[in-house]
Amino acid sequence: MFQTDDTIVAIATPAGRGGIGIVRVSGPDAQRIATALTGRERFESRHATLVRIGAREASDQAIVTSFPSPASYTGQDVVEISAHGSPVLLHAIVRAAIAAGARLAEPGEFTLRAYLHGRMDLVQAEAVQDLVAAVTPLQARTAFDQLEGTLTERIKAIDATLFALSARLEASLDFAGEGYHFVEPDRVASEIGGIIASIDTLLGDARAGRLVRDGAQVVIVGRPNAGKSTLFNALAGSGRAIVTEIPGTTRDLLTETVDIGGIAVTLVDTAGIRAESSDAVETEGIARARSAAERADLAVLVLDRSRQLSSDDRALLETIQQSAHVIVASKADLPLAWDDDTVEGLAVAAAVGEGLPELRAAIALGLGLTRTDRDTPAITNIRHVDLLGRARVALARAHEAAAAGMPEELVAADVTEARTMLEEITGHRTADDTLHAIFDRFCIGK
Ligand code: GDP
Repeated sequence: MFQTDDTIVAIATPAGRGGIGIVRVSGPDAQRIATALTGRERFESRHATLVRIGAREASDQAIVTSFPSPASYTGQDVVEISAHGSPVLLHAIVRAAIAAGARLAEPGEFTLRAYLHGRMDLVQAEAVQDLVAAVTPLQARTAFDQLEGTLTERIKAIDATLFALSARLEASLDFAGEGYHFVEPDRVASEIGGIIASIDTLLGDARAGRLVRDGAQVVIVGRPNAGKSTLFNALAGSGRAIVTEIPGTTRDLLTETVDIGGIAVTLVDTAGIRAESSDAVETEGIARARSAAERADLAVLVLDRSRQLSSDDRALLETIQQSAHVIVASKADLPLAWDDDTVEGLAVAAAVGEGLPELRAAIALGLGLTRTDRDTPAITNIRHVDLLGRARVALARAHEAAAAGMPEELVAADVTEARTMLEEITGHRTADDTLHAIFDRFCIGK
């Protein structure tokens, strides 16, 4: 079980210096702790109050805002202290709050409390994490839609239909002896068919949704001098996504996260991979390019169209057929050295910026993002996709049983199983270890 009856504290703003830094306190003692820190007896609800914070090691002027339970982020008494954004000062305020009885919050614990107190469901809590982690505007919009409850509403609508259906099935079971029947097997089968169709509509979005949420890796391959680095820089320069440094990125490969069609694409330049010997077709460089292409979601093969194709180019062309790929005919500003039938490639002159919008569109399409209207997909999270898929399996069984006129118990059992899966998505019914797995990924203070 999760403890929610103590008072937690954490810095809610990112590490580092800023104009303002916020310390957040949540729990039954939040108000008392704010008094201990400021000497002020009470704070008017939802009003900004200018105070002097007297932490032992540092003092500052700060704005305190009090959000009494239950209408707060966590559903508990919450106090937010906005001080100057100095790490020294913010840490001193946190220590003073701890000295006054608070406990340092675990990652995601504020949002976990919001969920446990019914302020949001699990889909929305996960959306908070996705929103914070978003690096492209489309990711942020998609996460915000889920935070606002679009997916929750659709899951709830499906669940409500299933609830009504299972109530009728149960009633038929209860009164079976008296000869009452609340359901006709054919109607049940067609109703279940309708529900499966709405699940399929949602799942149809899943591929695009996962691409948007999780991003994709695109590797640029080609022999030395084909124009890979120039292309990498052109793609990165025009659409560099807002990312923070992530430790542990591969050192021998140059990577950059860029926004391509709303997808956070990690672009990998294999320019550093050099062939040991240039005469052998199956060189080390090609072998490594192949393994990079295999691991990526899509490979962009750069072929220099101002020169005849070499045997290395042909080897790479063959290699690339195994994966999702886009072929770029580079240096399109130079005279074409290829014969008509050499290869179909997208003409790009990266050095002068020609053909880049077309290339970006081809990459987005190659990754599977077919929509051109940039609507936000409803379902993006693999956990949700998995559970919805399992609900569908149970419903397909129920459908088959109903269509075959099998006993209502069997149909009812599968409908109940499908409902369990849906309730796990929204967190109506969720195991503690699932919650741990979800909230442990949050940052502290969220
Ligand atoms: P890499 O070894 O595959 O990474 O190739 P580079 O990007 O370093 O490019 C090799 C050479 O081709 C450099 O001299 C580039 O200036 C030149 N180059 C790259 N792209 C273009 C282009 O679009 N047009 C022209 N004319 N030259 C290019």
